[in-house]
Amino acid sequence: MSRSAHPAGPRHADVLPEGHYAAPAEDLNALDPKVWAHTVGRDADGVVTVGGITVTQLAEEYGTPAYILDEADFRDRARAWRTAFGTDADVFYAGKAFLSRAVVRWLDEEGLNLDVCSGGELATALSAGMPAERIAFHGNNKSPEEIERAVRAGVGRIVLDSFQEIVRVAHIAQSLGKRQRVQIRITVGVEAHTHEFIATAHEDQKFGIPLAGGQAAEAVRRALQLDGLEVIGIHSHIGSQIFDMSGFEVAAHRVVGLLKDIRDEHGVELPEIDLGGGLGIAYTSDDDPREPHEIAKALTEIVTRECEAARLATPRISVEPGRAIVGPTAFTLYEVGTVKPLDGLRTYVSVDGGMSDNIRTALYDAEYSVALASRTSDAEPMLVRVVGKHCESGDIVVKDAFLPGDLAPGDLIAVPATGAYCRSMASNYNHVLRPPVVSVRDGAARVIVRRETEEDLLRLDVG
Ligand SMILES: *Cc1c(COP(=O)(O)O)cnc(C)c1O
Repeated sequence: MSRSAHPAGPRHADVLPEGHYAAPAEDLNALDPKVWAHTVGRDADGVVTVGGITVTQLAEEYGTPAYILDEADFRDRARAWRTAFGTDADVFYAGKAFLSRAVVRWLDEEGLNLDVCSGGELATALSAGMPAERIAFHGNNKSPEEIERAVRAGVGRIVLDSFQEIVRVAHIAQSLGKRQRVQIRITVGVEAHTHEFIATAHEDQKFGIPLAGGQAAEAVRRALQLDGLEVIGIHSHIGSQIFDMSGFEVAAHRVVGLLKDIRDEHGVELPEIDLGGGLGIAYTSDDDPREPHEIAKALTEIVTRECEAARLATPRISVEPGRAIVGPTAFTLYEVGTVKPLDGLRTYVSVDGGMSDNIRTALYDAEYSVALASRTSDAEPMLVRVVGKHCESGDIVVKDAFLPGDLAPGDLIAVPATGAYCRSMASNYNHVLRPPVVSVRDGAARVIVRRETEEDLLRLDVG
């Protein structure tokens, strides 16, 4: 995960890189179920299939690159979270990981709630029929227009992120003759063990109101006095791609401490606590994520124990997984364009997409796996770097991986675990067109977000 995995950088990597890819997997044709969507396998000819359809059929019909999303897997994972937390807790899917109207309908049908953090995400959710009371509105700088729209729509909660926003939301709600249910987002001073750019609960950051110095308590005090607000709870989100539950333990301890102070000072027991998202998934075979039922059990026990110690009734818990639901459900299908061996270094494999469809490698130094998808091969493994077609040397999709030595232009390769933060962070860099999202289920495929066209691009460019 971290930059320190390859301290010497690519220039010095004339031997096999240290860390995760010190040796090729025993069988390069194997597809580790940890990193691939549930219905992924190979057919009798060795072609990768998903939802009963081969990648060669998908490439022919929908072109490459394309995000291929396993609908059954998405529903399974959503349901697993829902079931694990039961009826005494709420699961909010974090829409920023990947949002489309089809996904909103799946979530609605599976009984999940939805987090949005912009007018655009709210519009998508509402237009797909998600009941407003099951939507939570997030963000550190919601515009007055966005707030008004959310209040008018009747969203179930707005998560307040600053002193100014407390006043702003109260004022807008009151002027509309409403009382808006709100949570207050605090930062508890926990730094989850994760990459610096995606850790969010240490206090030197833009989100939330610090617990330190009594600021969070002061925020609650002010919010409780405003007629436009119904303060329902405290929110804490400690980071992303977290495997270790101890960060949540410390966060819950501190949030419950605040609930206790509020009770002692104001005689009010806030009924809800939201512990955020950030649960990790397997990007490579080295990652070992926990199952939703283990996470639910651990979080519920932590909160119950802390509340008993503080003599508080256990509040209703909510969680906000994004990546952990959608991340593993999709892979990106690319066609190989060039294969360039650099003697003594590695082989550069160029695909027909790149940092415009997956910015995570460049942005977070994220690790990914990759497999030859259109066939199997018994050729010797070669060390590769999978790169895109952009005018930028940092345009890397998979930094270090092994693929069969006979890889050639025209082969299809697939990068798993690209369901979260890939399409949602996609750009038009170099005026490359954003790929479609194709969902597959029971032998049928359908486009849920279509491929961008040059016409789409030129429509925005008014000349
Ligand atoms: C990003 C975010 C999430 C989801 O994070 P994942 O790592 O995708 O689980 C949940 N809650 C908040 C407030 C977030 O900002």
